[in-house]
Amino acid sequence: MADARLLVVDDDPALLQALPHMLRLRLQNLHVDTAESAQLALELVRVQSYDVIVSDIKMPGMDGFDLLTALQGLQPETPVLLITGHGEHDLAIRALRGGAYDYILKPIDRDDFAAAVRRAIDTVQLRQQVKHQQQELEQYAASLEQQVYQRTEELQQANVALASVNESREQMLRMVVHEMAGPLTSVKGLMQLMKRQARREQSGERLVQNFDTVEGAIKRMERLIADLHDAAHIQMQQFHVQREQTDLVALCQQAIDEFACERVAPTASTENQCIGVVDAQRLSQVLLNLLNNARKYSPVERPITVTFQVGEQEICIAVQDEGAGVAPDALQHIFEQFYRVGGVEGQHGSVKGLGLGLYIARAIVEEHGGRLEVQSRLGQGSTFSINLPTSELAVNAAKEAFEMGTWSLLWKIEWQDPQLDPLSSVNM
Ligand code: ADP
Repeated sequence: MADARLLVVDDDPALLQALPHMLRLRLQNLHVDTAESAQLALELVRVQSYDVIVSDIKMPGMDGFDLLTALQGLQPETPVLLITGHGEHDLAIRALRGGAYDYILKPIDRDDFAAAVRRAIDTVQLRQQVKHQQQELEQYAASLEQQVYQRTEELQQANVALASVNESREQMLRMVVHEMAGPLTSVKGLMQLMKRQARREQSGERLVQNFDTVEGAIKRMERLIADLHDAAHIQMQQFHVQREQTDLVALCQQAIDEFACERVAPTASTENQCIGVVDAQRLSQVLLNLLNNARKYSPVERPITVTFQVGEQEICIAVQDEGAGVAPDALQHIFEQFYRVGGVEGQHGSVKGLGLGLYIARAIVEEHGGRLEVQSRLGQGSTFSINLPTSELAVNAAKEAFEMGTWSLLWKIEWQDPQLDPLSSVNM
């Protein structure tokens, strides 16, 4: 039997001494308190809870029935056993009807008494067990309910995310189809036109012009396809660069020449060399992309500045424009694939991209162990910088280049005459 606490209430001091002793002999782990009156019993009950209470019915002052009624208010769960005199059946019935758990007949049979107390204790402990288990079950049910709620919420979020992935995939597909359809339509139209012109034997000059336009459209298609190809490789983590020893200053100069058709004012001597181990073609691609964007998103009369800075730890190639800039909320997304800032149109004549340029540029720079960073203020312009760690670029033969201390170069690209807008000649 688990630990139990019993209260015996009787005005007979002899019984009050004998009963606890007799019970302790028969029942283990039993703690017995005694009270010689109902009032005293109630005082005890107010400070201590009991598993079972045994009380005589006939006591001076408050009798056993009154005590029973009071106990039902104080400890309704506690079984109460009332002791009645032999032959007082009416009292026994009244006791049971009044809510007593059992009654004990006087003279008390010790074994019967111990058995009745034990039954009452078992019942109360069983009830407690059931209550405890019920509480555990309720807690478990509540935690299950909480889990179901959480999982449902996660599922709903996953569904929303999935829907938005599907949505952006569809958007992306529409964009790709749209971007590819444009150059194809112009190639088709021009081919038909050229056929007609050839039949009519019109001047060769017009034909050459049309051939140039067709060539431009085909180049655009080729670039779109190459970008899609690169983006797929980046996603599959199969995008790699092929490094070779390269003069980074010459690389910048070539990219700027190609971009600006030599309308450039270098403000520092380009005799300096900076040899690093890089993928020259891919780094030129990054630089051209930044230059083209700078041109696309800034007015033609505003200059574009390229700076080349060799520092202790890093080489930084920065492209700065004085154009539209990018709002802070859009800025955090511009390196994501297929992202284009909404509501922003490029300069007249520029070709809309797929929003892959910066995504690929960042991957190329990161493949070199570097970072592609941007600083931009809406309406004031942007600076994109390629930061390459010298430790990644240096080879033995080129060490001196990095040991020359810190130095920098600057190119300013400007078109004095907007008529010379290079958008048409530069392949953007
Ligand atoms: P896109 O082919 O659309 O130019 P990019 O990945 O190169 O794709 O650029 C993503 C978007 O970032 C552009 O659509 C444009 O909105 C914004 N952006 C890029 N460069 C600049 C810049 N220099 N000034 C302002 N906005 C820019």
